[in-house]
Amino acid sequence: MSKDSQNIPQDATKLKKLAKVTARYMEMEEFKDSDHHTGYFCYNCIYFMKPNHCAIVTDEGPDVYGQSSDEIAPHGICALWEPNKEEMR
Ligand code: SF4
Repeated sequence: MSKDSQNIPQDATKLKKLAKVTARYMEMEEFKDSDHHTGYFCYNCIYFMKPNHCAIVTDEGPDVYGQSSDEIAPHGICALWEPNKEEMR
């Protein structure tokens, strides 16, 4: 029995989400009411969790502008953005 393989699930539960500044997250207020299925938005990122969370970035903490919205907004974006083909048009 390998000790290393036993440790994997335990370590996975310890994974912490990234801070917004670390991920270079920002919210683009000017696109708040636009179609989030098109362009680079959290809304059509594979990590986005509707309605306002992200699987890998925290809700809390300041973004790159020093603002704390306490959510991951559909009109947000960060450096880790990956396209979600099911949402993109
Ligand atoms: S772009 Fe994706 S990874 Fe980055 S905060 Fe938004 S949903 Fe999360």
